[in-house]
Amino acid sequence: MLSYSTQLIEDDDIAIVNEVLKSNFLAQGPRVAQFEKDLCDYTGAVYAVVFNSGTSALQAMYSVAGIQEGDEIITTPISFVATSNMFVQLGAKPIWCDIKLDGNIDENRIEALITPKTKAIVPVDFAGKPVAIETIKTIAQKHNLLVIQDSSHALGSSIEGKKIGSFAAMSIFSFHAIKPITTSEGGAVLTDNKAYAEKLRLFRSHGILKKELWNSDMISMGYNLRMTEVAAALGSSQLNKLDKFIAKRNEISNYFDTRFQEEKLFLTQKLEKSTISSRHLYPIILNPELHCLKEDIFKELQERGLGVQVHYKPIYKNSFYEKQFGLVSLPVANDFYNSEISIPCNQTMSMQDAEYVADTVLDVIHKYSHRGCSF
Ligand SMILES: *Cc1c(COP(=O)(O)O)cnc(C)c1O
Repeated sequence: MLSYSTQLIEDDDIAIVNEVLKSNFLAQGPRVAQFEKDLCDYTGAVYAVVFNSGTSALQAMYSVAGIQEGDEIITTPISFVATSNMFVQLGAKPIWCDIKLDGNIDENRIEALITPKTKAIVPVDFAGKPVAIETIKTIAQKHNLLVIQDSSHALGSSIEGKKIGSFAAMSIFSFHAIKPITTSEGGAVLTDNKAYAEKLRLFRSHGILKKELWNSDMISMGYNLRMTEVAAALGSSQLNKLDKFIAKRNEISNYFDTRFQEEKLFLTQKLEKSTISSRHLYPIILNPELHCLKEDIFKELQERGLGVQVHYKPIYKNSFYEKQFGLVSLPVANDFYNSEISIPCNQTMSMQDAEYVADTVLDVIHKYSHRGCSF
């Protein structure tokens, strides 16, 4: 099965993991600090603080940003639930902003949602495509709001040559198995703000500050959200290959773009010339007249060996959110959910695989399009 996204682990990744397993430190050794330095060198961010998952990184980011009971957070419903779960558990309320057909938050709809309770704007770089961060920052500055970003899909993405990671006050990344690079499970917060970095480190490890010799002091509430040495070593090894992975996913994506250029039955995600996307996902957006056939199309793509997926069910449609915050319905996000399919695009695929994927997608969609939807 060709997967919509998957990891590539090579012999040198395995060798470094073996080496760490035989070393003195499995936890709290030098590899974590090294991986953090590597992340800063790669992205240009001043500070990196790594965690045991992207979700932990979100929890830490929202906590040190001071998000609390009663705050409103303007965010996108087209994301993994963790993006909002981690501020909801702090007592904050999601204010859903509709999206554009590229899957990113619609920056032109943000300002109308701002109230005296708004604390932060949380965009997500969907599929690796950078959001309109400069516009979002301008709105935020005008209203004195924080911009903090879930860039789980976008490690290695850039705008005008500058990597995602220091545009927002803080940006989180995920190193889950199928993300742009993996530590098996893992995550990071990148920031240029020293005070945030210090608070993130405390939050990650019990709120304990080390002093001289055996003396330490717990100065704030903290948890154990630390990354292991094994994971960090794998992360450094993977990071060396990120540009190679991204080049491969772009080669496949560009090939798909060409194959689908004249296509009338679905759209693809268009990128600005000034940006590079990690191409974590390759989403296709079926036309409205095919929405009722999406299940059939999805099933047949799977039967023909395409590990497709749908990203995402709008977060507000989950029963927890419906119970907690009431029914919400945003037209573009709803349509996006009815029309999106992520097709296989990953760094383990050959160009023959890509050709098979493009042929199969076109064949299946055109076959079903003859049936049409009865309204
Ligand atoms: C994967 C993902 C997360 C969660 O990351 P984990 O490392 O799995 O905890 C959060 N947000 C988005 C957009 C993601 O894709």
